[in-house]
Amino acid sequence: MCLYKNFGLGIQFAIGTFVAWVPEGLPATVTMLLTIAAKRMAAQNVLVKDLQGVETLGAITLLATDKTGTLTRNQMTVANVWANGTLYAAMRSHDDAGQQITSADDPGVREVLMTSALCSSAKFDRTDVPVEKRELLGDATEAGLVRFAAARMPADFDDLPARHAKVFEIPFNSANKWMLTIHRLAHARGPLTLLIKGAPERILHLCSTILTGQESVPLDDSHRAKYDETYRYMASRGHRVLAFAQLQLDGAEYAADYAFDRKHPNYPTEGYTFVGLASLEDPPKHGVREAIGRCRSAGIQVMMVTGDHPLTAEAIARKINLLIGETREGVAAHTGRPVAEIREDEYDAVVVHGDSIADMSEEDWDTVFRKPEVIFARTSPKNKLEIVTRAQELGHIVGVTGDGVNDSPCIQKADLGIAMNQSGSDVSKEAASMILLDDNFASIINGIEEGRLIFANLKKSIRYTVSHSTPEVLPQIMYVIIPVPMMITSIMILVIDLGFEIFAALTYAWEPAESANGLMKLPPRKPVSMRSIAMLRARRARHPPPPTDPVTDKPIVPSRMTRIARAFRAPFSRTWWQERLERSEGEILVDGDLLSWAYLEAGIISAISATLVFFVVLNSYGISPRQAREMAKDTSVTYFNKDSPDYTYNGRTFTGEEQFYALNGARTGLLFSIYILQVFNLFICKARFRMPFGKFMFRNIRTFYGFGAGLLLLAIVTYIPPLNVVFNTSYKAIPLYWLIALGFGFVLLGYASLRMLVLRKSKPIKWNRTIDGLHMHPTIWSTRHTTHSVIDAQ
Ligand code: ADP
Ligand code: MG
Repeated sequence: MCLYKNFGLGIQFAIGTFVAWVPEGLPATVTMLLTIAAKRMAAQNVLVKDLQGVETLGAITLLATDKTGTLTRNQMTVANVWANGTLYAAMRSHDDAGQQITSADDPGVREVLMTSALCSSAKFDRTDVPVEKRELLGDATEAGLVRFAAARMPADFDDLPARHAKVFEIPFNSANKWMLTIHRLAHARGPLTLLIKGAPERILHLCSTILTGQESVPLDDSHRAKYDETYRYMASRGHRVLAFAQLQLDGAEYAADYAFDRKHPNYPTEGYTFVGLASLEDPPKHGVREAIGRCRSAGIQVMMVTGDHPLTAEAIARKINLLIGETREGVAAHTGRPVAEIREDEYDAVVVHGDSIADMSEEDWDTVFRKPEVIFARTSPKNKLEIVTRAQELGHIVGVTGDGVNDSPCIQKADLGIAMNQSGSDVSKEAASMILLDDNFASIINGIEEGRLIFANLKKSIRYTVSHSTPEVLPQIMYVIIPVPMMITSIMILVIDLGFEIFAALTYAWEPAESANGLMKLPPRKPVSMRSIAMLRARRARHPPPPTDPVTDKPIVPSRMTRIARAFRAPFSRTWWQERLERSEGEILVDGDLLSWAYLEAGIISAISATLVFFVVLNSYGISPRQAREMAKDTSVTYFNKDSPDYTYNGRTFTGEEQFYALNGARTGLLFSIYILQVFNLFICKARFRMPFGKFMFRNIRTFYGFGAGLLLLAIVTYIPPLNVVFNTSYKAIPLYWLIALGFGFVLLGYASLRMLVLRKSKPIKWNRTIDGLHMHPTIWSTRHTTHSVIDAQ
């Protein structure tokens, strides 16, 4: 009997403590909180594919964004054309420099128009209506050029592709940055003409002559100087510039039916004739400027990674808060000193050319990433990948936006890949973990805010939930070591953990931010600083990657025994402890402060209250704490059951039934005490940066639903007598004793306020520094799009 009882007790204790230390409902609560946040993000046009993304979004420290289509509207309009040494303005109603195009047959202009129309993958959706009424299908750059060509030579535009059939094509790609086609376009020396358009410096490199008037003359330095000047003028206005060239293929070598081969180039790859330049305007989207300003104020570095010319990129960046400071070249220009003499601390902004990326050393990368304003221009997809990898090596949590097919490796590599819904390719959407439904860059920042909010709320929710563990566990420990009667049973613990706690913990999903915009004034939760980088490097140096097998090139994994031995040895080394105790700057979900509050501070106050209520109730039935202890100590009989033997003490006899009701009444008191303290805690945990008072505490109406539902549950398990048997409660419990718990609730509130006062002094909040020069005055459009539901509610 005795043995059986002890054995049973052992099992019960083991199960009980296990259930109690780790709040049962926690994983479910976390999942539900994230799900609710994901739903709310979707309402803001941010579709997050997995729940992990919700959290990552709030943690982003660096946002690498492409320019075209993400920051700009992706509606390209030709602004200027330069051909035959003349600068033309393409739009009549524009303030562009240059003369008007008088005829589509102007020398040079004709070739530019022909190439725009023929050397292109963009097409009109229909040909039966005037050009203005048609839709263009295809890449925005080409669409802009085709529209331009169609407007300038409307008469024969639709017949062009048929008349000059395409016999060969190399489509545009971001590595080459040009597109080449060969057409049946007869000339004096043969039936075929090669057309090429693309990034000007790449095209010029392939040319040896230039078209002037009707003939081509060898390219010389004066041509190059003029080209340079025009290119600079166009690009520095933020326009995308393309160059056009052609080659009239010699009929003797390239007959009309010549079979061209892309894999083994059997066509001229150089010696082309330069025709001219065209610039396309693609203005920034509305709201992007404010969105970038908000990102930067939130301590997130925003980098532009584009395939366009550095000057184009810089001009656009200056319009959208991405570049405010001076570049090295800028400083040199206005101080009149040579570029080489400008020290690193004299400028804030860098524009890195994609071609130089391959040769950049570790120090060069450090210098680049130290700058607050960085642009990568003329990048290839390979460069983009390298940029993301380097950033991640420094500990950055990188978000990458992209819409093209070739962006997908980079999107995949990023911690959070962001694709565009409308303009993005399917491949990029596949690779991304987040999709912007409205293609609006400003939605990202709303998503980040939502992500930060949910992280803060998760933390509050966990802090709250874990607090009920100590009052569950301490009674069980007392039961074993003092001993006292079993004050709380496993089923009661489940009522708490999976019952009222779930309702209450969930309400944090709707918790508003503590102050409007407050979250966005804080740095990201794992900020990258000089110190964090140094720590990361030191750690990496201490733990070099495992050696690789020279044959298979795979890392050699040590045997299981070696790994176990290492794990055992580790805590005896100094570095292990150093690393554990190293103060990292990052914020984690479950930190020391949270654990201390939940398990020790709030936990113990709640446990004291619970124990007190328990014994006061038991005493009200006539069983004093001392008696209870005596009864629990007696291992020869089991008291407190309905069929237990009578217990007589000081002339008073308690029947089994009386003992049973006394214990369950006391247990009910304990249950209510834990609940009441948790209601106080529910409010207290809302305040992480402020005192737990004021209107803010009551703003989330669901808090009331949450603890209301909890109260209902407790009332059901207590006051429906048949349930008493299952839940070890008693419908005879008198609520008067719960006032003790109420008193302790106020003690907890007072304690929390004191704690906040002390923390404010000892650990003041570190807000972000303000960035001078940000243009944040909103436009009509942007105000409509950047308001935030949560902020609105305040
Ligand atoms: P991004 O990633 O910024 O879109 P890309 O690599 O696509 O950059 O384009 C870079 C450059 O290639 C542009 O500045 C332009 O000069 C040229 N270019 C872009 N699209 C085309 C095209 N369809 N055909 C030829 N050249 C193009
Ligand atoms: Mg592109």
